[in-house]
Amino acid sequence: MKELIEQLERHHTLDASALEQLLEHATQDSDTLHYLRTTAVRTARKQFGLGIYVRGLIELSNYCRCNCLYCGLRRSNHTAERYRLTQEEVLACCEEGYRLGFRTFVLQAGEDATHTDEWLLPLVSEIRNRYPDAAITLSLGERSEASYIKLRQAGADRYLLRHEAANAELYASLHPYGRGLAHRLSCAEALQRAGYQVGLGMMIGVKGQTVKHIVEDLKLLERMQPEMVGIGPFLPHPATPLCDEPAGTLSLTLATIAIVRLLLPHALIPSTTALATLIPTGRTEGILSGANVVMPNLSPSSVRAKYAIYENKASWGAEAAEGLAALENELHNIGYHIDYTRGDFQR
Ligand code: SAH
Repeated sequence: MKELIEQLERHHTLDASALEQLLEHATQDSDTLHYLRTTAVRTARKQFGLGIYVRGLIELSNYCRCNCLYCGLRRSNHTAERYRLTQEEVLACCEEGYRLGFRTFVLQAGEDATHTDEWLLPLVSEIRNRYPDAAITLSLGERSEASYIKLRQAGADRYLLRHEAANAELYASLHPYGRGLAHRLSCAEALQRAGYQVGLGMMIGVKGQTVKHIVEDLKLLERMQPEMVGIGPFLPHPATPLCDEPAGTLSLTLATIAIVRLLLPHALIPSTTALATLIPTGRTEGILSGANVVMPNLSPSSVRAKYAIYENKASWGAEAAEGLAALENELHNIGYHIDYTRGDFQR
């Protein structure tokens, strides 16, 4: 396996069967996983040093017209207590975030039908005017190409739209009421055309997903060359059809993050909240697999628990914006520190 990992480190590509072999071995043999992660960390350090970028995550709304089987925000979850922030509340989050040192704001939400261009454009413009040196990232799901273009012109720099599954059948099984994989990918391409730094990604261990499916995800990432890649374990939510499914495993999640780092050495890869929710040391384990971004929660504390895409989602301590000291301490213990710059994609 050592040779395969070194080949991947040098050439940033491997064929599908070698990737499959590597993933299988990395989850069965701790020496292979260790060597893979060490190699990924070396690659990340060459690009980013020991600095970890932080992004302030603002969860605008948990209303959603979608019905994704895995997600606690799905429209059929009638037990969810819905909320929506006002523009003033969002701006107050930005103000607090800027004061704390954040230079990227991530505006994420369910697909809330009230988030029309008319509502969003003045908000994005206002954040852009108030904080000219901060990056604005949107994560608002599938929209029209015209809308993506207008939001980009209003000042948004980046857009997170995980592809969720590169295999069309798996995608359809997880999103039986969705518009399909081809539509999701056409949105990602529209975002690339509009000049966004684009984030793709997928959950690990979601129902029906095999190692072969993950290999298809890796090949899609290699083909599309996204600037950002979000990867976390699937975590069951009690009020969804996948409530009784097991969570994704730590070893497969870390192996996948490490391989993505070697495929895309310049990519911005968060150590996700899902990983930090799976196990208490998840955040640092992600960084020690090649991740280089953390996204603490900047949402008002009164709504944080309500943005429950899965059960027991971490939003306190080092996952919280006001817990930056705790995060700095965690990073310090593994030899890293927070990098407070905007952290744009650079080749
Ligand atoms: N509505 C936006 C944002 C979705 S939430 C969009 O469609 O892009 C961000 C990500 O959380 C999703 O892309 C999904 O990959 C992840 N997610 C949702 N439910 C999850 C679960 N139960 N376990 C782990 N991750 C989940």
